Amino acid sequence: MAKANESGQNTAARPLTDCPFPKRYPSQLIRDDVFFMTLAYNQAIDAWRRDEVPVGAVIEYGGDVIAAAHNQVESVGDPTAHAEMIALTQASNALGDWRLNGATLFVTKEPCPMCSGAALMARLARVVYAVPDAKMGCLGGVADLNGIASINHHLTITRGVLEEDCLELLQLFFRERRKTSTSAVDESQSID
Ligand SMILES: [Zn+2]
Repeated sequence: MAKANESGQNTAARPLTDCPFPKRYPSQLIRDDVFFMTLAYNQAIDAWRRDEVPVGAVIEYGGDVIAAAHNQVESVGDPTAHAEMIALTQASNALGDWRLNGATLFVTKEPCPMCSGAALMARLARVVYAVPDAKMGCLGGVADLNGIASINHHLTITRGVLEEDCLELLQLFFRERRKTSTSAVDESQSID
């Protein structure tokens, strides 16, 4: 795995395409959905800078961020290394409990089947996502795991927070990747 320096850039090799979007610095004073999604957006930019599909996630609990992660499937060579999965592990460690009652997951793209299932298993209070995913999304996009009546825990879902910005990031990443990549591009997380 490549080492990252302090600025978060991959020092082993430049990414295939430079991320043209800057990180954002929202006011710490207003901790609303846009604030937390902006932090997830910044995580997605970190993913791009490491040549990963730009998806980021943060978990909020009691007004504080207890987890922040981005997709790392390529760099760790693990199909479960989605932003949400890593963030759920971080949050469980932070709280010392696998039950994340009262916590909210903010993620830049609608969770896939694995991550939607994990959000339910973790007993999160709420999931907030930016971009709906009609191909893989399982909180209403292509299927709705949260709507399964026999599951006795249900999530409150908020959709569309910072949707345009997070969509632009994903769309440009895949457009640039198709131009520059000589090998097959994994389109499983593309949204167009
Ligand atoms: Zn996932």
